[in-house]
Amino acid sequence: MSLHQSHQTAPLADLADPRLVRSFAYVNGKWTGGTGGAGFAVTDPATGDWLGEVAALTAADSAAAAEAAHAAFPVWAGLLPQDRSALLRRWFRLMQDNREDLARLMVLEQGKPISEARGEIDYAASFLEFYAEEAKRPNIEGVTSHLADAEMELWREPVGVAACITPWNFPSAMLTRKAGAALAAGCTVLAHPSHETPFSALALAELAERAGLPPGVFNVVTGDAATVVAPWTEDPRVRALSFTGSTEVGRLLYRQSAQTVKRLVLELGGHAPFIVFADADLDEAVAEAVKAKFATSGQDCLGANRFYVETPVYDAFCARFAEATARLSVGRGLDDADIGPLINERAVAKQEDHVADALAAGARLLTGGTRHEAGPLFYRPTVLADVPDGARIMAEETFGPVAAITRFETEAEVVGRANATEFGLVAYLHTRAPRRIYRVARALQFGMVAVNRTKVTGAPIPFGGYKQSGLGREGARLGMEAFTEVKYVCRDWA
Ligand code: NAD
Repeated sequence: MSLHQSHQTAPLADLADPRLVRSFAYVNGKWTGGTGGAGFAVTDPATGDWLGEVAALTAADSAAAAEAAHAAFPVWAGLLPQDRSALLRRWFRLMQDNREDLARLMVLEQGKPISEARGEIDYAASFLEFYAEEAKRPNIEGVTSHLADAEMELWREPVGVAACITPWNFPSAMLTRKAGAALAAGCTVLAHPSHETPFSALALAELAERAGLPPGVFNVVTGDAATVVAPWTEDPRVRALSFTGSTEVGRLLYRQSAQTVKRLVLELGGHAPFIVFADADLDEAVAEAVKAKFATSGQDCLGANRFYVETPVYDAFCARFAEATARLSVGRGLDDADIGPLINERAVAKQEDHVADALAAGARLLTGGTRHEAGPLFYRPTVLADVPDGARIMAEETFGPVAAITRFETEAEVVGRANATEFGLVAYLHTRAPRRIYRVARALQFGMVAVNRTKVTGAPIPFGGYKQSGLGREGARLGMEAFTEVKYVCRDWA
C-alpha cells in the first residue's frame, strides 16, 4: 500500500484547517511514511466510512525514532525551564485555537458525542497549561543535615527518553497527560497512539511543530503496536514508559520493561462500583449514575460497572435509572447523540456476551439489551437488575453502555463486595451521612473515591489506581515523578 499525505476523505478534508490531518508519522521534526511503505486504514465507527490511511512504521523506523529522541534529549533538558514552559504554553494555546477541528477529528475516528470531544480537548489542553507552569517550579530541594560538617541538596533531573503509549478512548487527553509531564520534566517523548485513533495524536504533533518544539523532542510513531513499541522496551536509553490501556497489555509491557529496569507508569483497567445508600439524595444519585455509566458511551476506565443499592431504595433506584437510561438518544457523535458507536465489533460482541451471561445467571433486563439500528457498532443503553455477583459483568470490564445493579443490606457487606476485585481505579459513593462518607471512603481500596458526584478528574489531581489498575499517578506534580531522577548531593562545609 502506498501512502500519500493528501489521501483523506471528505469528512476529514472538511475541517477548517485540513493541514491538521496528517497521515505520516512525526519523527525528528519530519513527517515520514517509514521505510516499509505500508499503511493501515482508519474508519469512522459511526458509519464504517474509510477516513484515511496512516503510515505503519517498521521496527527499524521506530528504533530510529528512539535514536532521534535520545539525540534531542540534551538539547531539551538543557533549555531553561522558562523556555520549555513557554513552548508548552504555546502548544496549549494552539490546542485552544484549534479546539473545534480537534474535537471533530476525534469524533470522526473515535465516535464520541461532539460535546464530550470538545470537553476532552479542553481537558487535554489543560495538561499542557498545567505542566507549562510546573516546568518552572524549583527543581532543587534542601535537606536537613544529619552531619555536622556537611550540607545536602536534592536535585531533580529528567530521566531521559520517555515512551508514552495511549489508548483510543481518550486519544488526546491521555497523550497530553503523559507528554506534558515528561516534557516539563525535561524528557523527550516517543508517543505511540492506538491504531484506532492515530489522527488525534498526529494533529497534536502538527501543533507541537507549529509551537516550535525542537526536532526529536516530541515524536509520534504509528503502526502495529507490538512492532513499534518492542524496540523501545528493549532500548536502555528509553528510561521511562508510561502506558494507558488494558491491564493485559500493561502486564506485558511491565515484563518487557524489566530487562532495562525502566521507570513505569501504568494506567490500566477499572471496574468501578457505584454505591447508593438509602439516605442518599435519589434524584442526584440517578443523575450521577447516568453520567458515571454512559459517558464516552460507557467506554471509560472510570465508567461505573457495578451498581450496589441499599434495599430500602433498590426498587425506586432501579425504576428511575432505567427510565433515565431509556431516554438517552443513540446516534452519531457529530449529531451529539448521548450514546455514540462502540469502537469496533469486538466491543459490541462483549456487550452481548455480558448481557446474555447475566440473564442466564438470573438477572432481569429493565431496558435495552440489544444492538441499535443506528449502525453495526451501536448498542442500546442497557440496565440489568438483580445481577448475581458471579456474573461476568460483575468482575470484568464491560467497556460499553451496560449497567448491572444488585442490592445490599449492610455497609460492611457492600464494602467487602466493592473491594472484591483485582481493579482499584475509582469508586462512587452516594450517602448524606458525613461519618459514613469517611468510614466507607477509607475502607474502599481505590485510587479515587467520588462522593455524591461523578466528575473528579482535572490536571491538578493525581489520577491512578490501586491493585491491578496500575502503578504510579498522572496529573498533578506527582505526574512528573516517573520522569525525574533524584540526585542527592552532599557537600562538605570546608
Ligand atoms: P489496549 O491495551 O488494547 O491498547 C492501549 C495501547 O497499547 C494502544 O496504543 C495499543 O496500540 C498499544 N498496544 C496494544 N498491544 C500492544 C503490545 N503488544 N505492545 C505494545 N503496545 C501495545 O487498550 P485499549 O483497548 O486501547 O483501551 C482500553 C483500555 O484502556 C481499557 O482497559 C481501559 O480501562 C483502559 N484505560 C485506562 C485508563 C486509565 O487512566 N487508567 C484510561 C483510559 C483507558
